[in-house]
Amino acid sequence: RAIARQKAVLETEVAARTAELKLLNVELDREIHRRAEFNRALVHELKTPLTAMLASAELFVDELSGDPRVELAKNIYRAAQNLDRRTDELLDVARGEVGMLTISPVSGDVRQLLLSMAENIKAAAGRKKQMLTVEITPELPQVSVDEDRLRQVMYNYLTNAVKYTPEGGRITLTARQESGELMVEVTDTGPGISEEARKRLFEPYYRVPQSGGERLSGLGLGLALSKMIIQLHGGRVWVKSALGVGSTFGFALPAKACASEGKKIL
Ligand code: ADP
Repeated sequence: RAIARQKAVLETEVAARTAELKLLNVELDREIHRRAEFNRALVHELKTPLTAMLASAELFVDELSGDPRVELAKNIYRAAQNLDRRTDELLDVARGEVGMLTISPVSGDVRQLLLSMAENIKAAAGRKKQMLTVEITPELPQVSVDEDRLRQVMYNYLTNAVKYTPEGGRITLTARQESGELMVEVTDTGPGISEEARKRLFEPYYRVPQSGGERLSGLGLGLALSKMIIQLHGGRVWVKSALGVGSTFGFALPAKACASEGKKIL
């Protein structure tokens, strides 16, 4: 009888704790939505003046064409573009956190996309005397992608490689077909990332604590957003790294099944 009584007490205790947990979960959910909503409102507030700045800066660059002051106008334009990209990132992560990030995949030329992204990053790598190598195998699987979104992922991987790798380092972009998937990797000879940090790297707002030396700015959103984008495509992301050697950031996308071409998966 004593055991039965104890069991009943325990059961009531478990029920009470479960109810408490449920309440906490609802609270947490509300908080996440509140924060996402705030971020969205904040971004919209920032976007209005930014769009105006971007448009004017662009016109200014055109107006000053041939004038030595054009470089100044270009600086304003690039700074506005950077701000615009950051605010978009913030909005996308806020959307992603509440499951409202969407993609529009179509069949596209991934090889061309990868090559153009590598071309775009060349100048930045050159400024740091980094060697950029591209290795894309001749046969790549057909994949269905949202090109703008995939460009965002590649931009994040490649700019991170340039940003976190010291002068004179090496950056390699590889793409190949493996087990029916498209595998893309960006490898660098940067500082590497500890195992502890690797576990949290794709979480929104997470940044590896930097010790001494030059502090590199950032919000810790790029990788989180990249993961959301790749997962929306039905793919996966990863990071491999060794401290003092470098890091490899990768993603895999499923090859398109020919039979489902043009069909919508509901
Ligand atoms: P951000 O670069 O704006 O901080 P990210 O989400 O792109 O945000 O990256 C998150 C963190 O991961 C960075 O702050 C940095 O600590 C680490 N990281 C990303 N890429 C690399 C890399 N190639 N080498 C070393 N650390 C990296």
